[in-house]
Amino acid sequence: MLLNGKTEIVGIIGYPIDYTLSPAIHNSAFRSLNMNWLYIPMRVLPDQLATALVGFRALGFKGANITIPHKMAAAILMDKLRGDAELLQAVNTVSLEDGRTVGFNTDAKGFEDFLKEAGIDLENQGVTVIGAGGAARGVVLAVARRGAAKVFVMNRTNDRTLELKDVLKSAISNSEIFERTFDNEGAKVIKESGLIINCTPLGNTPEDMPPVGLENFHEGQWVVDLKYRKTGTFLRAAAARGARTASGEGMLLHQAAASFQIWTGREAPLRNMREAMNREIVR
Ligand code: NAP
Repeated sequence: MLLNGKTEIVGIIGYPIDYTLSPAIHNSAFRSLNMNWLYIPMRVLPDQLATALVGFRALGFKGANITIPHKMAAAILMDKLRGDAELLQAVNTVSLEDGRTVGFNTDAKGFEDFLKEAGIDLENQGVTVIGAGGAARGVVLAVARRGAAKVFVMNRTNDRTLELKDVLKSAISNSEIFERTFDNEGAKVIKESGLIINCTPLGNTPEDMPPVGLENFHEGQWVVDLKYRKTGTFLRAAAARGARTASGEGMLLHQAAASFQIWTGREAPLRNMREAMNREIVR
């Protein structure tokens, strides 16, 4: 890629950032469309987030993705929030418009598009979401939009679930959100759910599993782990009991496509982006 004074710059800020597949996905998309754009990963500590956002203006960035642990803090720092970012009070995509930071959130759309592509039908189904952080907010919104009747949010810290409910209550009218903790009552809803989504960093090894009663997985369910690269113990346990499983690549791809469109105004080359992501995963 030839960089010059006309190169448009975007990127991703997070901490840690080593694992990110986004540079491979976006740079491949730019190359495939012959666009003079560059996407760079940036390791930014939480106490440097505000400075980094000011730096985007100074450096003439077109925008950036925002990932762990900055999504909610970034929402407070934006000049303006649009669409789902305003609803979720979390930002995963910043666009610089006339020097102003405009925050978007493409996570819910990313998960919705994944559900459509995988053919996961939620009409009148119960859904369990494990975790109540930034990603869980987007996932709950997505499953509600896809028609889930009951959404059980199961988290270690109940206050965080209450916050999630409070943030989403105005946006969700067709679904009911129930809070659950990791106890027997929680395990019961796992058994009764058609879709279970792990929105915590747990689940890679037998030592760090979400305590949700894995014996309650069964045939006919879908079990999704939002993490990518690592198809760990959580998904293997679900598959061993007959559930269909997926990791977070589908959501990653579709949220990336939506960010691409926000920055460039062009339709994302989805096939090229998927191939780039898959190449990076096996690397
Ligand atoms: P976050 O805001 O930090 O939330 C983390 C959640 O995990 C919280 O609910 C937290 O519970 C829970 N948790 C963390 N450590 C735990 C432990 N030891 N025991 C029990 N619960 C624990 O993070 P996030 O942005 O929601 O991200 C969550 C996961 O989703 C990450 O693995 C991230 O990589 C993945 N993700 C994937 C995509 C994708 O496109 N595929 C997009 C976004 C995120 P407490 O509230 O009790 O602390």
